[in-house]
Amino acid sequence: MNELLGKKAMVTGGSRGIGAATAIALAEKGADVAITYNASADAAATVVKEIEGLGRRAVALAIDAADAVAVGDGVRRAAETLSGLDILVNNAGVGAIAPITELTPAAVDRVVAVNIRGVYAATQAAVPLLSDGGRVIHLGSCAAGRVTSPGMTLYAMSKAALVGLSKALARELGARNITSNVVQPGPIDTDMNPADGPFAATQIADLALDRFGSPLEVATAITYLAGPAGAYITGTELTIDGGHTA
Ligand code: NDP
Repeated sequence: MNELLGKKAMVTGGSRGIGAATAIALAEKGADVAITYNASADAAATVVKEIEGLGRRAVALAIDAADAVAVGDGVRRAAETLSGLDILVNNAGVGAIAPITELTPAAVDRVVAVNIRGVYAATQAAVPLLSDGGRVIHLGSCAAGRVTSPGMTLYAMSKAALVGLSKALARELGARNITSNVVQPGPIDTDMNPADGPFAATQIADLALDRFGSPLEVATAITYLAGPAGAYITGTELTIDGGHTA
């Protein structure tokens, strides 16, 4: 199915995990894709190769999401390289699990810079470039709506901020038929949250379905929002959490 043929997409943090799966899934539907990465140059190059193997254009840009100026420049470079921008997936994010009393100001600054300010900067740069009918999709977390364990103050706060951004953006861009939504994953098996990691058992105990989700299961929902079927969905949260917050 080539329902995204001719579309130009940018996925921040597209070198690994959900972002990599999303970049490839968008390309499988026909899109050309720019990804950003911070540290994993080899992984980013592998994603680019895989997308090119699908016959689509791909570019990987080394951009720390915490650097708002670089993020804005990166969005403009991506649009220039791909000759346009139709879909922005704000995926780059970092985890932070610790009691509030143990989080240093530097840790707070880093999470706010990557999970909130970086998303804001990418969105701000993308808005004038996005085609009418475009899509903005933010990777939030089910923890934005309901927190099931301690140690999540900083992370949940950062992901809750994206709900406000996304809803306000939906109002602002509706006249251009551009949608804005937050995808809110629960436990997804990635480097950030491995299904055999130290916090896995607690999360599985809280799931309705008895397993972690896969990056592809999230990517599939993102491509749905990005495609024609998602045209009337805006300002909402799509939770993909195996019933973690049910
Ligand atoms: P991973 O840690 O597996 O991958 C993160 C990706 O983001 C990598 O490609 C990484 O690139 C990139 N990235 C991280 N920091 C930066 C940065 N400063 N600048 C640019 N790129 C960066 O994470 P997931 O795939 O698990 O998570 C993706 C998103 O989904 C995140 O926003 C996360 O908060 C959210 N999420 C994940 C859940 C889960 O259970 N996995 C649950 C709920 C939400 P590099 O390798 O180059 O550093």
